Amino acid sequence: MIRRIDLRGANGDGSAVDYRSLVPRAATDVESTLEAVRPICADVEHRGLSAVKELTARFDGVELDDVRVPEAALDAALRTLDPQVRAALEESISRARAVHAGQRRTDTTVSPVPGGTVTERWVPVERVGLYVPGGRAVYPSSVVMNVVPAQEAGVGSLAVTSPPQRDARGLPHPTILAACALLGVTEVYAVGGAQAVAMFAYGVRGDDGTWACPPADLVTGPGNVYVAAAKRLLKGRIGIDAEAGPTEIAVLADSGADPAHVAADLISQAEHDPLAASVLVTDSPALADAVDTELTRQVAATKHVERVRTALGGAQSASIVVDDLDQGLAVVDAYAAEHLEIQTADAAAVAARVRNAGAVFVGPYAPVSLGDYVAGSNHVLPTGGSARHTAGLSVQSFLRGVHIVEYDEQALRTAAPHVRALADAEDLPAHGDAVGVRFGTGDEERRG
Ligand code: NAD
Repeated sequence: MIRRIDLRGANGDGSAVDYRSLVPRAATDVESTLEAVRPICADVEHRGLSAVKELTARFDGVELDDVRVPEAALDAALRTLDPQVRAALEESISRARAVHAGQRRTDTTVSPVPGGTVTERWVPVERVGLYVPGGRAVYPSSVVMNVVPAQEAGVGSLAVTSPPQRDARGLPHPTILAACALLGVTEVYAVGGAQAVAMFAYGVRGDDGTWACPPADLVTGPGNVYVAAAKRLLKGRIGIDAEAGPTEIAVLADSGADPAHVAADLISQAEHDPLAASVLVTDSPALADAVDTELTRQVAATKHVERVRTALGGAQSASIVVDDLDQGLAVVDAYAAEHLEIQTADAAAVAARVRNAGAVFVGPYAPVSLGDYVAGSNHVLPTGGSARHTAGLSVQSFLRGVHIVEYDEQALRTAAPHVRALADAEDLPAHGDAVGVRFGTGDEERRG
């Protein structure tokens, strides 16, 4: 069901091992999908609303009259929302709000020299587009994970988009609409995939020339490989958060871990997408065998059995046997999982040694499913190894730290010779002159 990679002895001669080349990755990744999304994004750029409607008909099987969801549909979805789902969403919102409120930044002012100050002012992005997946599964939880940090950051203009559903009269899933209504979001679009990312990047105009969806400054949110590829392609034209593509779980476990728990957690992420990755890293071959047995038993009983089998059997999934936990940590750091579970003795101490992961789940009572919904942490997390350099979605994702520089005359006077020296060293003498001119030591004086 899941292939075995045996790395025992890989450290044998003591030379550094390139674990990054040994960890499993999907054959279809963001890079290999760029060519598929390039024409989609170009079409939206050049033909606007007509292109979005045609692409939606092609990829979602829905003929859209309008891309914008009427506000009445949001209210109706909230009115008819299952009370238990409403209670769970409210709990998710409340825990996420508590955690994300703690991420708010305050401006700081530092005076590196008397009379000179540098203030870092945190300014929210003006307008954001928030992507909520809705292809194989629908993700009201991603409404919470996108909207709460954006609101806590103070973003003024906030638009959500999600693919239209054939069985929801061409609107996004009603639970997604209800989650938007619970959070007070009124600007919602029924567009998915790469065309949704392009819609936010370029904006789209209707036939009368008015905006059907104005462009955004930043697009955030998780999605499949097409969504992630469009984010990579359009980055720069629009800001992006992490490339939060097909989900990944890595479990670092020792012989004390419960194989039934480990298998259940591997399956829980595999059910997202045939391209999802489930990776076990263990120093116990006996645990790897027991997890194999559990996978066979549990997969047979799971709902999305074909999707799970494809994900677990894909090149991106594996059970990796290592010599010891030190080697295991080197492997999980090289893999840089979106989600990393630590199911070992003294799990907190092991977790403290992890460098690269989108989020770390510590011990037997913190499964990734908890983080997907109600831990309070954010579930929009970097994939494909990008956790080496990128964090998950947070209030910080929606803020820019703008430096405000204030120097008085005396403070500039003390800086002047240093500016001159460095400007001359860079052969950019006009820089030195721009300071010198303020003190009568400008261009003419220096040359004459
Ligand atoms: P989705 O909304 O991401 O993608 C659906 C859209 O993909 C469709 O609307 C369609 O426009 C487009 N599409 C489908 N096939 C296409 C094709 N052949 N060519 C071009 N476009 C095509 O929904 P999904 O497919 O269910 O995927 C959700 C993804 O989000 C999963 O991979 C899941 O693992 C991931 N996810 C990631 C995170 C994270 O933080 N990394 C969190 C939650 C979910």
